[in-house]
Order: sequence, then structure tokens, then C-alpha cells
Amino acid sequence: CARMSLMIRRAPQAAQLTDKAQAMMKKIEDCLHCGKCKAKCPYGLDTPRLLEENYQDYREILAGKMI
Ligand code: SF4
Repeated sequence: CARMSLMIRRAPQAAQLTDKAQAMMKKIEDCLHCGKCKAKCPYGLDTPRLLEENYQDYREILAGKMI
């Protein structure tokens, strides 16, 4: 989910827009922004921010944004 913006532009788009994929992305709404993933990430990623940004992009694509 945190890399969907890249995935949807590099792989066949339809596979990332299925009902199952949309349900998976919608789970981002449940993020508590507790930061536990960020604190443990071995790559130092700000995962909560990545999730938020990728979800916003995904929703814009669902709404018709051209990619
Ligand atoms: S900040 Fe990370 S660990 Fe916390 S709820 Fe969100 S995704 Fe899960």
C-alpha cells in the first residue's frame, strides 16, 4: 500500500484497481498514526506518511485522474 503510486504506474493498472485491491487500500483509513511501524522500519521510512500520500493518489486515480 505504501508503494501503490509506483506500482500502479509500473504494472498493469487493472490488477491494482480490483474490488480486493480497493478494499486493501481502504484499510489505510484505519491507520492510527501511532508511528510504531516508522519506529521499527529498518530503512527509516515514514510509513504512515507514505500510506497517506499513496492513498490520496489512489483515490484521485479512482476518481479519474489520468496517470
Ligand atoms: S502508524 Fe504504522 S503501525 Fe501505526 S497504525 Fe499506522 S500503519 Fe499501523
